[in-house]
Order: sequence, then C-alpha cells, then structure tokens
Amino acid sequence: MNLLNFIEQFPDEESCQLKYKEIRDKLGVLCSGCGCKGHYWKNDKLLYQCKHCGKRTTLRSGTVMHGSQLSFRYWFIAIHLLTSTKKSFSALELQRQLGHTYYEPIWEMLHKLREVMGRRDGEYELSGVIELDEGFFTTIRKDEEKANPLKRGRGSQKKSKILVMVESIPIEGKTTKRGKPRKVGHLKMIVIDDLKAKTITKKVKEKVSKNAISDSDSSTSYVNLKDVVKEHKPKVIPKDKVSEMLPWVHLAISNAKRLLLDIHHDVKPEYLQGYLNEF
Ligand SMILES: [Zn+2]
Repeated sequence: MNLLNFIEQFPDEESCQLKYKEIRDKLGVLCSGCGCKGHYWKNDKLLYQCKHCGKRTTLRSGTVMHGSQLSFRYWFIAIHLLTSTKKSFSALELQRQLGHTYYEPIWEMLHKLREVMGRRDGEYELSGVIELDEGFFTTIRKDEEKANPLKRGRGSQKKSKILVMVESIPIEGKTTKRGKPRKVGHLKMIVIDDLKAKTITKKVKEKVSKNAISDSDSSTSYVNLKDVVKEHKPKVIPKDKVSEMLPWVHLAISNAKRLLLDIHHDVKPEYLQGYLNEF
C-alpha cells in the first residue's frame, strides 16, 4: 500500500477503529471472565460485552495497543511506515511528523510494534538451504557512565553478538563464475549471549527445520549442527571470500548494520533485537 492508498483508506480515526475491529472480529474475542466467545459490540464505548457474564473487553485490550493512550490512527500510521518503507525511521522522526508533544509514547509504540514483528517471525521456521554466520553489532551501554565518569556522554561500546540465518535457495540450471547463483528467502537475526556450540545449536534447533541443509564456516560454534539439521556443510572460508561463499548472510549483516548506523544511533543492547525484528 502506498501513501495515497493509505490516506484514502484511513482518512480519520473512525476508519482505523473500524478496520481494527474487523481484524479483531475475524480472530475472535475471548472473554477473560468466562471464556465465552459470544459478545455484543458497544460502538459508543468501543468495547465488547460478553453475552454470558457481561464482562467488558475494550477493542485494544490484549492486543499490541493494550494500555496505549495514542490514537488508532497514530498506530496505523506507524504500522504503515514500518512495513511499507524499505528504510527504518526513528521515534524522534515519527514524533516530529505526527506533531506529538511527547517522545516516550511514540518510542514505546514503535518498540511494541517491533516486538510483535519478532513474534510473527517466531511462527515460522527456516527450511531448504540455510546460510549461517555470526555478526558483531556495536551497541552502547549508557548505564556504565556512573561507574566510569571519564566515559560520560557517549557510554561505553559493546559488541553484541548476533546469529544470522538466511534461506539461500540455489537456482537450478544457472551457473556463474561464482558457482550456482542463489535466491534469498526468509531470514532470522537473533541476539545471542555467546558463540558457544551449545548456544548456537539450541537456536538453530528452535528456528530451522530439521530437514534443512546448513552452510557455515568451519568455526567450532557450528560443530554440533549436524545433530539438528539433515546435513551440515562447514567450509573453510578465507576472510575475503565470505561475500562469495555466504553471500546472503553477508549482505544481510551489512545492510542491517547500515540501518542501525543511519537511523538508530547508539542502540542499547536490550533494544537491538527489536531493530533486528524490524529489519
Ligand atoms: Zn464472559
């Protein structure tokens, strides 16, 4: 949907509320009091009332908008921008565009949306041929300022570790100088605490189909992958050959880094996963 379609379809608060209700009705509303599914709709108060026990459920409750004071239209605009633009945008920029007085609620809204994007990603597993590698992303720990006053202002830098998994599908019948060209599929980027084989194997088991084939370098982090996928093909990869031998994982890492550098400066480690979800 482009910007003109968006404005046409959602010109005001009411059109956004109606759409939200339409989606919610499709999913079904469950009464938290008695578990009943039948509800009356109270249009003046934007809430459902249970046909059985009378308990009320607001249109927002139990959804990503739960507890938010921001208008439905703000949420719709944020969702539209997050999903229709290739590049990301900062909470500060959205606040400016919306002409909203406070930064915090806008920042929170974006982070909640990034969180649900991650949950949506969690619903599918990667399959086919998977490229695997780790990335190191610079994050900033502001909380250390107190401990070390010399570092005031900027905070200390930390490298957060990311496991990157990309579906990389060989295209049949085509070969180039670099070997078989590959088409990219879904990808997952997950913040991990360390690069131990145990950590990596657990994540791959969670996120990748056991019928998959995995490609990686010959690092000890990947030694146990053969236990969780159909076939694991570790290769010795010289540094200057990474972009050839693991092309999509390499590109994904550099694009994600650029997104963080260009738009979300000084990312704290605890929020990095959110930005990766969005990416
Ligand atoms: Zn009920």
